[in-house]
Amino acid sequence: MPTLADIARYCDDLLGIPGFPDDPRALNGIQVDTRTEITRLAAAVDARERTITAAAANGAQLLIVHHGLFWGGLQPLRGAQLRRIDSVLRSQMGVYGAHLPLDAHPEIGNGVLLAAELGLQPTGGFGRFLGIEVGVQGETSLETGELVQRAGTFAARYGGTVRTSPIIPGRRTARWAIVTGAGAAPDTIAEAAERGVDTLIVGEGPHHTAISADESGLAIIYAGHYATETLGVQALARRVSETFGTTWEFIHEPTGL
Ligand SMILES: [Zn+2]
Repeated sequence: MPTLADIARYCDDLLGIPGFPDDPRALNGIQVDTRTEITRLAAAVDARERTITAAAANGAQLLIVHHGLFWGGLQPLRGAQLRRIDSVLRSQMGVYGAHLPLDAHPEIGNGVLLAAELGLQPTGGFGRFLGIEVGVQGETSLETGELVQRAGTFAARYGGTVRTSPIIPGRRTARWAIVTGAGAAPDTIAEAAERGVDTLIVGEGPHHTAISADESGLAIIYAGHYATETLGVQALARRVSETFGTTWEFIHEPTGL
């Protein structure tokens, strides 16, 4: 059976890690090493205490996450952060993180996979960030309300709900863009205007983004930070398990956002 070194080499290559731009707190790639042979994988959106203990209790030797152990930045090992690290080390489980590389990937990225869930076909990238495009965009001819409904059905599957900026009944979507996670921001709203996107589908965003959207004729569909980032880690774990013959499971731990 493979070691973490084998699996990490495969994932790094697939995702373009290292060298992929990201927030330094993302720490893409191996976050915690292990020499144990890997037969069981777990995947989760967040490296939080509950997902770590569940993965360890289920006998996983590797946990693949989107938001890794170091999202809180430089901080002392105490409280919840100490418990997380302690739980990882005691179980001798490895941790592998993939953040923006897993948002932007053309086959197993959160953006393309969410588009497929919503019945949309991407034709290009969207969401310029650190010199790359972290999301996708495309054309369609749908009532915006239909897209909201599809996004709501998807979000509900992952324990979330959908919200929107004000949408006039009967409004139609011709050009959409997706940026999963915290995708609604002044930058993405400006980019939408510049690129002729009339509907922006994101995970979440601050209150003022709904006002900016309303005043610029844009519709924003907020489908949940957690829900919109569940797909990439599952696709990566599935790829690894198909390649190396391990089992895999998704540890569902919604945040309500
Ligand atoms: Zn995120």
